[in-house]
Formats: sequence, C-alpha cells, structure tokens
Amino acid sequence: MQITHYIKKWFLVQTLFLALSAFWLNGSPIVNEDQRLDKFKEVFISNYWKLHPVEAIYSGFHKNDSLLSVPSQKYFDFCRRTLNFLNDSLNKLDVSKLSVNAKTDFFMMRDRIESDRWYIDEFRDYEWNPAYYNLGGEFAEILNASFTTLDERLRIISKRLIKSDEYFKAAMTNIKNPVIEHTNLAILQNEGSLEVFKTLVPDSIAKSRLSIDEKKLLNERLDLVRESISSYIEFLKGLLVNMTIDNSKSFRIGKELYSKKFQYDIRSRYSADEIYEKAISRKAELHTQMAVLSRKLWSKYLGSMPMPDEDRVMIRMLIDKVSETHVHRDSFLYAIEKQLPELVKFVNDKNLIYIDPSKPLVVRKTPAYMEGSGAGASISAPGPYDVKANTYYNVSPLSGYTPERAESYLKEYNHYILQILNIHEAIPGHYTQLVYANQSPSLIKSILGNGAMIEGWAVYTERMMLEAGYGNDEPEMWLMYYKWHLRSVCNTILDYSVHVLNWPEKVSIKFLTDEAFQQNAEAQGKWTRVKLSQVQLCSYFTGYSEIYDLREELKVNQASTFDLKQFHEKFLSYGSAPVPYIRDLMLSGN
Ligand code: ZN
Repeated sequence: MQITHYIKKWFLVQTLFLALSAFWLNGSPIVNEDQRLDKFKEVFISNYWKLHPVEAIYSGFHKNDSLLSVPSQKYFDFCRRTLNFLNDSLNKLDVSKLSVNAKTDFFMMRDRIESDRWYIDEFRDYEWNPAYYNLGGEFAEILNASFTTLDERLRIISKRLIKSDEYFKAAMTNIKNPVIEHTNLAILQNEGSLEVFKTLVPDSIAKSRLSIDEKKLLNERLDLVRESISSYIEFLKGLLVNMTIDNSKSFRIGKELYSKKFQYDIRSRYSADEIYEKAISRKAELHTQMAVLSRKLWSKYLGSMPMPDEDRVMIRMLIDKVSETHVHRDSFLYAIEKQLPELVKFVNDKNLIYIDPSKPLVVRKTPAYMEGSGAGASISAPGPYDVKANTYYNVSPLSGYTPERAESYLKEYNHYILQILNIHEAIPGHYTQLVYANQSPSLIKSILGNGAMIEGWAVYTERMMLEAGYGNDEPEMWLMYYKWHLRSVCNTILDYSVHVLNWPEKVSIKFLTDEAFQQNAEAQGKWTRVKLSQVQLCSYFTGYSEIYDLREELKVNQASTFDLKQFHEKFLSYGSAPVPYIRDLMLSGN
C-alpha cells in the first residue's frame, strides 16, 4: 500500500539522514556548512516530490509516476510528519555560516516548508475546492512525455490507474464546504479529463506493442477510472442541487487568508495592502500619461473628428484606431521569428545585458496538446532535469480562427503590443532570465522558483527597453505599452478588490472596461479567473515594482558608479529567488 510505502521510505530517509550527520559527501568528509546544506538539499528534494507528486511529473521527475497519491487523511498526516522532519533537519544548520547562494537556497526551503504547512492546515482548499481533484492533466503529461518509450509509459499509466477509485473516494470524503464556482469548474474539468481516458490513452494503446494481456488489463483499469470520474461528477452535481450563493462558502477568501496567501505565494517585502495602494497610484500615473499621448496623436489618427471631453473615452477611441496597425494573420509567426534577432541587436547595441549567442530560442507553432490554454504565445522551458533540451517559443498559428476572431486577436496583439510581448516572453524577458538561471544551476531555485520574481523580471524588461529607447520613443509605442502595463496594474487592483473588498461582478467588469480599456470578452474572462484563483494575478505587478524599486535604490546608493548592464547581470545571477532575498544580497554588496 502506498502510504505504508511512504512511511517506510520516510523512516529510511530519516535514518539515512541522521546517519549522515557525521557528514560525508561524495566520499570526502564534510568540512563546511555549504556541504552540509548540499546534503540536506538532496533529502529535501526527494521528500518534496512526495509532497508534490503532480508537480514532480510536470517538472520532468518521473521516478514515482507509477504510484498515484491518494489524498486521504493518512496522506495529509504523512505530509505533516515529513514537513516537521524537514523543518527540524533544516534548523540544525547554521545559516550564518552559509555562502551567499546557499543562503537563498536555505531561505527558499524554509519558506516552502512553512507555506506547505499553511496550505494543509489553514488554507485547506482540498475541502472546499472540488477542482483540486482531477486526473486528466497528469495522465496526459505522462502520455506525452519523452523520458521513455510509449510502451513503457503505458505500463506506468496502467499501474498509476490502480488507485484511481480510491483517489476519488478520498476526494468525496474530503469535500466539506464546497464553493459553487469551484464545483462547477471541477465538473467541467473532470468532464474534459474523461476524454483523456476515452480517447487519448486508447488511441495510444492501439499504436503500442503491449501484449494482449497488458492491453486487457489496461483497458479494465480505464473502465474503472472512467466510472470513478463519472461518479465524482454525479456526486458534485448532486451537491449543487442544494447549494445557493447564500448557503454556500464564498469564493472570496477574505482579508486574513488573502494577506497570508500573498505572503506565502509572492514573498514580497510589501504587504498585500501596500501593493494594492501602489497599484492604485500607478494606475493614476498611467491614465495621466495616456491622456497626454492620446491628445498628441489625435489628429494623426482621427483627423478633424471632435475630441471627446472625457479623457478615458478619448484614450479608448485612439487605442482602437492605433490597434488597426497589425500584421497579416498568415505572417504572425514569421513576424515573431524575424523580431528576435532585432531585439538581441538592440540589447547588445545599448549594452543592456549579455546575451549568450550559443543558446538560441526556437520559435514553433504551439503543439496541438497545448492548444486551448488561451495563451497566444508562451515559453516552453526544459524542466530542471533536462536543462540541455531546447527552449521553445510557442505561437498559436491562428489557422482555425474565423476572420472575426483572427482580426480581434491581431488587434489585441497589434504591431506595437507584439513587440512588447516578444520583449516579455523572449528577449530580454523570460527567455534571457532562464538562460541566466540555468547558469548557476541550483535545483532548489529551479524547483521552488519564485513566480513573482520570474514574472516581475519580464514585466520590468518591457519598461526598461522602452526607457532605453526601444521603438524610437514613438508615442504610439508608449501608449500601447501603457495599455499593456495597465493590465498587470489592474489585475492587482481587481484581485485585491474582489477577494478583500467584496467587489461584485458588475463593478469589476466596469472597472476593467472603463479603467483598463479592455474588451468585454477579456473582462469577462478575467472575472472568471479572479473567482477561481487568488493572489496569482498580483505576481506580475508586485515583482515588477520590487525590481524597479531596487534598481532606483541602487542608482541612488551607487550614484555615478551605477551601471545598468551590471545591475541586470548581477540581479539574474542569483537564480529565480524571491526579490527581497536578492535585494538583501545586492544591498550588502554580495
Ligand atoms: Zn510572463
């Protein structure tokens, strides 16, 4: 049984770890604190994958794939014990004796232990979020992975399916006070997951060389999982019958949980309240700048048409007009491909950051199995276990789009925004950050990479590039940048306002359309997202603010010796650590 297996292993690991307290590493005696930490990191990571078995699959760690974790109370107890053990072991290390990079690893592990405990004991989303339980994604991920042959992957899937029935039984036991929105989402997603077991896996069985017996067994297990998922969906539909907005738990998590979640997920030196205030004032600044630029551009785009009195109406009309400058749908991918060397050249000419020419980024059409995520462009980075693999820039081919949908999409990703998107996703945004992160390979930093730092860097580079003169200071470029940037700013305001200040739907939609200049469809999508997630929408603006503020602080401190290129390279040299830790190190001259 899996739990016994875990417990046994847990004791084994613990004993092993204690045995190692005499401390030997690679056959040599451990002489310093960094080496003791390295030893602990191995123990931490192997335990971490048991605490986060699905994340392991997505990170390319496939060792435990054949074992499905059943989210029973026993499992949560196992998690608590493991976290206690990790915490005790970590505290035996002397942080003051660690080197700079080891220190950030230490803090990141300590933080994750702390937040994992909070999720299990306080946040408890496994009780109110039925979408917590869903097997489709992880099975599709194993099926599409390339770590071993198709036959082997199907054998792994077959074993992993054994406990699917137990898995959903535990789910139904755990669910106590579900949220209507998350219950609806769970039904939708689990219905989608049925497809994995009705079509995707059976299609692969047909292509495989499994023996007749193996196929028979796998098919029986597929029958079982389909049945379990269907029962789970029926169970949820049954719950919904008696649920009303008044008698059910709200999707809004409220001030107390929100502040904590912000602290654990983001790891900022600003509190949730402070970042909300910052976003409010940034929004006002952006509106003022946008009005100035729109007045300047009015006659160029709208001729003698009278200018509306209301600034926001005027800005919106102008944005609509400027958005008509966009590439043809057939050359969307080509336009992105052509732009990357231009960005590299600009970064080099302006001396902004060193870009390693030996690691090119491969632009490709988004693979079919990744379509439908809603993102027009994204970066597929190799997982921490496969750093030498290619990094891809996935671009939606738009081939299936109706002319109207393609036009609206191309207006959104118009001539100007497309360039900002390329800065964000590729150079010097996500892709460049990734190359630097891989240069100082700390498995801890890539596994526990801080989302606010990663997104913050990409958002920061958009402004940095324009400030360095990218786009020749064209007012159209700045106007479109402000509109794009306003999205991160307003995401933060919206998230806080909905979860903490109880904003209703109408107010939220009006805010997004009137103040962030979003189309109604985009605003509706955002409303759906804000109901189903918490805090994540703040990560972009929070990370950006911290990096920008740190740069300005260093500019003052270092006065005439401040060098932008050096700042960027130094900042990225610490890996994907939370910005406050990087800040401490940079301010203390490390
Ligand atoms: Zn991003």
